[in-house]
This record gives sequence, structure tokens and C-alpha cells, in this order.
Amino acid sequence: MTLNTTRSWSDSDLDLYRDTVVRFIEEHMVPDDEAARMRGHVGHEIWRKAGEFGLLCSDVPEQWGGVGGDFRHEAVFYEEMARRSLTGMNASVHTIVAHYILNHGTQEQKQRYLPKMIAGELVGAIAMTEPGTGSDLQGIKTKAERTPSGWKIQGSKTFISNGYLAGLVLVVAKTDPTQGAKGMSIFIVETEDCPGYRVGRLLDKVGLKAQDTSELFFDDVELTEAHLLGGREGQGFYQLMADLPYERLIIGVTALAAMEGAYEATLDYVRDRKAFGKAVSDFQNTKFKLAEIATEIKVGRAFIDQCVLALVEGKLDTATASMAKLWGSEAQGRVVDTCVQLFGGYGYMNEYLIARMFIDARIQRIYGGTSEIMKEVIWRSL
Ligand SMILES: Cc1cc2nc3c(=O)[nH]c(=O)nc-3n(C[C@H](O)[C@H](O)[C@H](O)COP(=O)(O)OP(=O)(O)OC[C@H]3O[C@@H](n4cnc5c(N)ncnc54)[C@H](O)[C@@H]3O)c2cc1C
Repeated sequence: MTLNTTRSWSDSDLDLYRDTVVRFIEEHMVPDDEAARMRGHVGHEIWRKAGEFGLLCSDVPEQWGGVGGDFRHEAVFYEEMARRSLTGMNASVHTIVAHYILNHGTQEQKQRYLPKMIAGELVGAIAMTEPGTGSDLQGIKTKAERTPSGWKIQGSKTFISNGYLAGLVLVVAKTDPTQGAKGMSIFIVETEDCPGYRVGRLLDKVGLKAQDTSELFFDDVELTEAHLLGGREGQGFYQLMADLPYERLIIGVTALAAMEGAYEATLDYVRDRKAFGKAVSDFQNTKFKLAEIATEIKVGRAFIDQCVLALVEGKLDTATASMAKLWGSEAQGRVVDTCVQLFGGYGYMNEYLIARMFIDARIQRIYGGTSEIMKEVIWRSL
């Protein structure tokens, strides 16, 4: 059975937009994926190209250079990459960074950064995690101290997506270590010609081989007041909390699209592959496994679509978005693991899409807040 992948939130304009996205991906991203996996990053050119095609930050208003779409346009781009396991270009982190600037930045900050981010001239990253702390964000040690001309940042960050290619990094730092949440602020660091800023090694990850994930070092990086997000000290934690539904739903959306891609690839394979004189798809076990997966995808589609619509209407709460992230990433793990099994040994070979999907899926339960943290957040809402 081919899954009916119609989204309740789509319409004819979005279907056309999806066609454009698919063309872009097939022509410009797929051919370089293998080389990008070897390099450990996708390079700057593809970012600029995606910008030219209007695919970056598509839900940022036109006044800043955007195409005037909404979250559904973002979702289309993420879905089409995820179903092909094209995990090199972290357009979602890039958009999340743009949203911090859009939602919390000053007029000058929006003017200065958003058009360049939409054009793909500046790649965005957000640096929260440190070697000593991830889930417990309030435990960060990076600090920003006042200077006569602005601020000075000292500290180090790790596991930063887009870290190697980033031209703009949002850095979460303590501006008052005596205060908990109220002592945190977000700074905008422009990385080009920035004394004291250093990108560490490209981290050697289990999966996401084409995606650049780096350590970042800030050794007395001097900034002006214009680099404090929103121009107000002590707002960092609240700014981060405000955008959580958006960030978590993206992971739910990509998880479900990856499941759809895995299902389709597996269906093709088991129909073709022969064992004991018949197609693997003829074994009852195969039929039952695929029936379970198809059911899981259909049920998940109803929930994720509902979340997408709620987000577009500005009604998605953090607990529900956390459910989307928790359920999506856990289901993705279960589904791709089952699919690998149905591929047999070929499922373990990197040249097969399903193998890449398998290794790329694992991180979805960890980054953007672990499954355990999602459960904490959901529990608090009960
Ligand atoms: C590929 C990749 C990309 C990433 N991209 C970024 C990025 O762009 N920017 C960024 O800032 N960070 C990024 N991260 C970091 C990521 O968000 C963190 O790894 C994640 O939040 C977990 O933090 P940690 O690794 O310090 O684990 P820890 O916080 O040390 O957690 C270890 C274990 O303890 C559990 N645990 C922690 N607290 C609790 C609790 N209260 N209750 C129950 N269990 C708990 C966790 O769930 C986990 O199982 C990335 C990580 C990876 C691997």
C-alpha cells in the first residue's frame, strides 16, 4: 500500500511549493550528499542557493526579505529532506535562530541579520550546551561581563549544529551568576573577523555525517550593546522558553516524514527481495510489521497535523509540542529499526537509505531536549 501522505494543513499552493522544494533537493542537494558526508559539512554554496530559491526562513515576514509563508512552508522543506535522510543542512536550527531575532530582537537587529539569513549569506547557530551541562541549562558557565563599551564573553560550547559554517551564533551566557533564570542573556556573535572566537574540531558523530557539529570557544570576545538580543539583560531564559513549541514540533515533523520515507523504501525492497523462493513481502511477519508501521504513521499523521495547524494559529502549547517531539522521535527509532531488520544485511550498509536513516534517527531522542526532559515537561502540565 502506498501511504496517502496528504496533510490536512496543505492546499494547492503548498503542493506547488512542495514541487519546487523537491526539485531543488533532487537537483542541488542529493548529488552532493555523499561528498558532504565525507567532508562533514555541506559548505556555504548550498545555503546561498537555498536562499535564492526562497527556502530559508520561509515563515519570516516579507518585510525582512522572506517569501511570506508560514510554518507549513517550513514543514514542507524539512519533510522532504527528512524522508530522504538529507540531514546535512540544518535549516531548522537556522530558522530557529532567525525566529529568536524576529521575536525578541530590536528593529536594528532584525534589519541587520534577517535579510542575510533569508538569503543564506549568514548561517545561524545557537550555542547553549557546554561540555559540563546540556539538559540543565541553568548550569552553564559561559559568562558575559560588562565593559565600558559593551560586553565581554568568556566560555566554551559544544555539540553546536551549524557551528562550523555559522556566520551568526546566538550565545547563551550568564550575565548575573547570582541569579538563576534571571541571570541569563543571549548574545549575537558575528563570527567573521571576530577576535577571541574560535571554532574547534568538527565533531565525529555516529550519524548526521554531512552536518557540521562543532565546539565553539569564546576567549574574551568583545561585543557592543547592539549584540545583546532584544537589548535587555536577563531575558535569555524567557526568550528560550517562548520558542520551545516551534523547535519541538520541527523534530516531530521531521520524525514522521522520516518514518514515511523509511516505510516506502522498505515496501519497495521487500517486494523485490527474494528468500525461500518468494518475495520477502510474502512472509506473514513482513506483512504484519509493515501493517503496524503504516498504522503508526497514520495515527501519528493525525496528531502531528493537528499540532502544525495549532502552531500556525499560535495555539500550540509547550507540553503538546513536547509530546510531538517525544512521540515522534521514539516512534521514528522503533520504525527505522524494524525497517532495517526487513532489509537484512543490506539494511546495515551505508549505501542504503535505510541504514543512513537508522543512524540519523538516534539523535532525535537526545537533541532539542531529551525524551526524559520531554516527559518532565509533559508531566508538569498534567
Ligand atoms: C548532534 C547534536 C547536535 C546538537 N545541537 C545543538 C545545538 O545546536 N545547540 C546546543 O546548544 N546544543 C546542541 N546539542 C546538545 C543537546 O541539546 C544536548 O546533548 C542534550 O540537550 C542533552 O544534554 P547532555 O548531552 O548534556 O546530556 P545530560 O544533560 O548530561 O543528560 C544525560 C542523561 O541524563 C538524563 N537527564 C538529565 N536530566 C534529567 C532529569 N531531570 N530527569 C531525568 N533524566 C535526566 C538525560 O535525559 C540523559 O539521558 C546537540 C547535540 C548533538 C549530539
